Amino acid sequence: MQEHAGNIVFIEDDPHIRKLVKSALEQEGFIVHEARTAREGVTEAGTRKPDLVILDLGLPDSDGKQVIAEIRSWSSVPIVILSARTQESEKVEALDAGADDYLVKPFGMPELLACMRAQLRRHARASGEGKPSGRYRLGEVVVDLPARSVTRNGEALHLTQIEYRLLATLLRDAGRVITHRQLLVAGWGPSHAEDHHYLRIYMQRLRQKLERDAAQPVHILTEIGVGYRVAEVVGG
Ligand code: CA
Repeated sequence: MQEHAGNIVFIEDDPHIRKLVKSALEQEGFIVHEARTAREGVTEAGTRKPDLVILDLGLPDSDGKQVIAEIRSWSSVPIVILSARTQESEKVEALDAGADDYLVKPFGMPELLACMRAQLRRHARASGEGKPSGRYRLGEVVVDLPARSVTRNGEALHLTQIEYRLLATLLRDAGRVITHRQLLVAGWGPSHAEDHHYLRIYMQRLRQKLERDAAQPVHILTEIGVGYRVAEVVGG
């Protein structure tokens, strides 16, 4: 028996996938509460106090996106989507609705476990266990959000206000995919939520300032068709 790794609510109508994932997660020490419908899922998520929710989007009684919205109305618990839907627009809608990450079926168990662990760590940091300092290290670059300072090897880097807002948005949710829309709203406000070309230009500038090689970024990663993600960072 391994120690208790976390309490999981798993919402999935396919009994085969449910069985497979449940037994793999239990072997890793997770406690798994299953739900077969959106309705059951919302009830389980509300009563089991899960550390993480795994959610299939195609459920018999309603769309998984409604489950995300429902859970987000009361909880910031990490939500990982498992879906057979491969369109980027589906991913974007689920992430905009408040999901934290998205795996496309068929997926590998190591991939799911890595994703779950990253979300559990991120959530523990964000919910103040060990008090996030607001300082982040990206290679040679140190970002201190409370002080509004960005330095590379100790030397100040100048970021514009918009660049800074975009970087802060990515860092506060390091490890999580932030959609184009979420970044546009953070950088320019809700009226610019569709101006994707602004975002491309600014992300390129940010990479030129922060990355060793902006053409091969290792810190600010592109999620094609969906958004950007800052690779997990060490508090500085
Ligand atoms: Ca399904």
